[in-house]
Amino acid sequence: MHTFVRDIDVIIVIGTPLSLKYNRREAEKRFARVYTTVPGDLCIYCCMPNDGKFDHQPPVYVLHRFANGGLVTKKQIQEHFGQCKLVPCCTICNMGLGAYHGLSDTERRAEIVHWFLEDERFPEDRLVLALGFRLIEERLQGKRDHEIYEFPGVGRIIYTNALTGLIEGDFQGHEDFPDWLRLAQSELAVWLRAAPKRKARYFLDMANLESYELLPHARSDPRGQFE
Ligand SMILES: [Zn+2]
Repeated sequence: MHTFVRDIDVIIVIGTPLSLKYNRREAEKRFARVYTTVPGDLCIYCCMPNDGKFDHQPPVYVLHRFANGGLVTKKQIQEHFGQCKLVPCCTICNMGLGAYHGLSDTERRAEIVHWFLEDERFPEDRLVLALGFRLIEERLQGKRDHEIYEFPGVGRIIYTNALTGLIEGDFQGHEDFPDWLRLAQSELAVWLRAAPKRKARYFLDMANLESYELLPHARSDPRGQFE
């Protein structure tokens, strides 16, 4: 154990960035004081309730890479990234972002929404989205119960409509959302809260992923942002 700790010290001194292990919890603690919390209870990306969760702008992993295994001051960080913020963010958008930084909230929304748009590699994916849309319509007509939210195609319709509308400027904010979208978001939020870990599982189902761990690039270099 002792030797292990010393090895880490040596790595920090010589500062070889790619061999420096990333420990999220330690990095979050290390950089906590540079972030200012932006209050709010709706996700700034999609306007779903954030349920007390926040997103680091820029991601902690980006600061970890910036520090490059050495010492870095708060001033250096602010000169490079501007004010670092903790913004209200739902679990699903947070997972969609991973360590993606992006230059604006619009870019970050585009990164999130690409997980949920039609996957053209699979022709049947169009049917999944069409069914999601129909289930929402039937719910609005009172023909179906809350169980429609179990179907990931329903979540994808809700997330893509909110995110795309904000990206394209059709909505400036939650107040511009059509009634159906507000209702569907609030019902989806209730359904997601009703069981532990349901939000994370739902993200994986919507994105058609088995596991988040299978995406090393999402953490180490999403969209080549460090190139
Ligand atoms: Zn969100």
